[in-house]
Amino acid sequence: MEYTNIFYVLAGVLFILGLKKLSHPKTARTGNMLASVGMLIAIVITLLAAEVIDFKLIFIGMIIGAIIGGIVAIKVEMTSMPQMVAIFNGFGGGASALVAAADFIKNAENLANGLPILVGSFEINPIFYGGVVAFSIFVGTLTFTGSFVAFGKLQGFISGQPIVFFGQQILNALLALALLSGVVMMAMANYDLHTLFIGIVIISALLGILLTIPIGGADMPVVISLLNSYSGVAAAATGFVLLNQGLIISGALVGASGLILTNIMCKGMNRSLANVIFAAVGGEVEGAAAATQKMNIKSYSTEEAAMIFDAADKVIIVPGYGLAVAQAQHAVREVADYLEGLGKTVLYAIHPVAGRMPGHMNVLLAEANVPYELLKDLDEINPEFEDCDVALVLGANDVVNPAARHDTASPIYGMPILNVDKSRTVIINKRTMNPGFAGIQNELFGFDNSIMVFGDAKSMLTELLADLKDL
Ligand code: NDP
Repeated sequence: MEYTNIFYVLAGVLFILGLKKLSHPKTARTGNMLASVGMLIAIVITLLAAEVIDFKLIFIGMIIGAIIGGIVAIKVEMTSMPQMVAIFNGFGGGASALVAAADFIKNAENLANGLPILVGSFEINPIFYGGVVAFSIFVGTLTFTGSFVAFGKLQGFISGQPIVFFGQQILNALLALALLSGVVMMAMANYDLHTLFIGIVIISALLGILLTIPIGGADMPVVISLLNSYSGVAAAATGFVLLNQGLIISGALVGASGLILTNIMCKGMNRSLANVIFAAVGGEVEGAAAATQKMNIKSYSTEEAAMIFDAADKVIIVPGYGLAVAQAQHAVREVADYLEGLGKTVLYAIHPVAGRMPGHMNVLLAEANVPYELLKDLDEINPEFEDCDVALVLGANDVVNPAARHDTASPIYGMPILNVDKSRTVIINKRTMNPGFAGIQNELFGFDNSIMVFGDAKSMLTELLADLKDL
């Protein structure tokens, strides 16, 4: 047992170092590697130390899981990463609930009779065990169903709009209360335990669904991050059920880091977590088309845009979700390299919630080996727009919408934005006048210093480069 714990601590240290390194693009790959080695150590040591009855079944499961996971990870589009993470969270929560359920079934008799629960040579107090096993089943099941609803919404299997009905929050509160009572009753073992168990599973599954359906499209990534945190909490609780230090450490780290990430995303959108969960916003906002008609839109060709770039000294590139959709990261790097070759200064402005997941733009540009020093955060880049000749907005919309600064009625009011409108010229590339994720039109497109160059970002950049070379 002692040597096992030494290895679990080693794995925990690797997880923490890995998380630390994941916080910067330069060290993220090493961080991922360190955390993976930590997980390998934890798995191997658990298999060696636990009383494994049948290795054959475990290895068959591992091979099937590794093949499916590997194929999915290689094939998934970067813009579909949130869906994949949702599925991972769901399986994580489901696995914790299943392990806890199996352990409960094994120990139900002792629990019912108030006898200590034996884990190896340790005895666990039945009240503690009952509470923690019920909690683990509850959080794990809720994470499972909630994550699959989130996946369905992002993948378009279920409507991405908030689904709300009368009395929803009261019903949710009652279900949550019933669940907490179930946890206490399981700890006190003062009701038929199997009925309690089935009740907890059904109500948690229902609550997972009901808590996720009212959340709208733009808020889904925040919810996925929160569900990620829940899956960690479920794993840590299962660690207490099994008295497994490795599971407690890793579950607590996932729970805490998921919560920190949720907080960062809420701050980036200038929303409170309660507002994300209960306000049912994030769907399409009506009136976007009417707002467009009132704007004076100037549409330029890439040849005309090339001439503006030719006269510029300082260019700031603003990537957004559309750049990821178009997979135009290499094309933008080529244009930037060419402009730098002409002696111009080129910088990239990175908004914390540009794209659809935290760090989306960093990862995208890293794929094209854009030097990290050129990527500037919001606070760092905003003063630079004042003396910038051209701000090139590529598939970004909400993160450059000036309404966030003054329109108190706007759903993005208060969100810090990139001040591209302060540049001498703003060149905006997108395919149509359709709104971004918040579902609102962008007044920037009608500003006097704004020019639209319509088209898919990759095709537009390829044509722009050819036109620049022709000058
Ligand atoms: P937006 O969603 O606001 O806008 C993206 C724009 O890209 C659209 O207007 C679209 O217009 C355009 N586009 C799509 N495909 C292409 C293409 N192939 N070529 C060129 N343009 C294209 O993106 P932003 O990055 O500005 O903002 C992110 C939004 O997501 C914010 O509202 C943020 O709050 C939200 N969000 C982000 C999270 C994160 O962690 N990053 C998490 C939660 C929410 P068109 O269809 O006309 O081409």
